[in-house]
Amino acid sequence: MDTVNQQSNTIEVDEDRQGKAREYARKRRRLSYIDMGIAAVGIIFVFWSGLGIALRNWLQSLAWQPVTGWYPWQVLVYFLVLMLGYQVITSPLAYYGGFVLPHRYGLSTMTLRSWLIDLFKGLILGLVMEALVIELIYLLLAVQPQTWWLWVAIILLFFSVVMANLAPVLILPLFYKFTPLQEGELTQRLLALAERSHTRVRGVFTMHLSSKTTAANAALMGLGNTRRIVLGDTMLDRYTPDEIEVVLAHELGHHVHHDLWKLIISQSVLTLGSLYLLNLALHWAVETQHYYLSLSDVATMPYVFLLTAVFGLIVLPISNGLSRVIESQADEYALQATKMVGAFKSAMIRLANQNLSDIEPSPLIEFLFHDHPAIGKRLKHADEFAERYAFNASISAESLPPTSSTEPPGMPSSGSSTPEAAH
Ligand SMILES: [Zn+2]
Repeated sequence: MDTVNQQSNTIEVDEDRQGKAREYARKRRRLSYIDMGIAAVGIIFVFWSGLGIALRNWLQSLAWQPVTGWYPWQVLVYFLVLMLGYQVITSPLAYYGGFVLPHRYGLSTMTLRSWLIDLFKGLILGLVMEALVIELIYLLLAVQPQTWWLWVAIILLFFSVVMANLAPVLILPLFYKFTPLQEGELTQRLLALAERSHTRVRGVFTMHLSSKTTAANAALMGLGNTRRIVLGDTMLDRYTPDEIEVVLAHELGHHVHHDLWKLIISQSVLTLGSLYLLNLALHWAVETQHYYLSLSDVATMPYVFLLTAVFGLIVLPISNGLSRVIESQADEYALQATKMVGAFKSAMIRLANQNLSDIEPSPLIEFLFHDHPAIGKRLKHADEFAERYAFNASISAESLPPTSSTEPPGMPSSGSSTPEAAH
């Protein structure tokens, strides 16, 4: 009878590191509250002081209008003034939160120079992509004032699919070096796992995180031909082969469950809802309140940003909740596929110790900000799986009819060794 491998591992939660983890999380949260506060005050100031209108009037000379009502140069300059103003004002926070704090807690291995290079690369990439989206929105506001929000949502969906495809081959290599995982025991194990789940894996790559961070990570990236499992080199050298296999199985679970698609689709639905509300708010501001000259008036930008930020805050717990469900399902997959409860738990504990993650954040904090279940919950999940599995195995071993009164819900039918075969 194959049983769950729950051999006791020596690795334990490091209480000292947990203290630091809570402290670090608290400081990071405080920084993001300050950041949000600055953004809110800044945008409300631009909005109410008349600065937003003055800036538009000042940009009147940029009158190129390829389509009636769409002034691409005005849109671009207006956007850059707002975004660069925000970046300059919050740059001390960015430096403290992105460089000083991770170094103080031993999480960053970057020099100031390499950190600055990454910062600028990210900034330019972000500005280019955001500027394209903003231009698109103002073009559609000019030509499709009633249905622009629907078009924007559709184009963004298309854009996010393209980006998910291209990110692992075009964007991420700008920041990290990737190399195929060397043929060996681990790749053999992954291929065996994948074969058992009838899934073709397009490759496992090592991501060279160690030049930037001490933290470990793994992920499923890409879609279609770029779909791949990525393992941080900060994990490869410090985890046992069993632990890495469980991590690979978790990533394979995302693969089998098509989780990237689920995230893209759910995000698109949330975006569509936000854009629709933004549409109502814009029509109200222009047609009822006459705050702006037209829907595509660039002076609406601070208003659009403010509302987008508010909707983003409302949507965040929803998308984090969905992500936590998906992550928990991938954990279940990893446990089912490997039966290595001990290795799963020790990998989780290692991650908590190494990455300074608080294993038991307050429920409210977890609900609002965490896109993975807390590690404490993931450990409990593993214990619960072991009990469920032992219970199941004993039933099939003794050929007893299942006692329905004590049967936990969601239990796979008898102790099958290929629980995902039905997938
Ligand atoms: Zn995951």
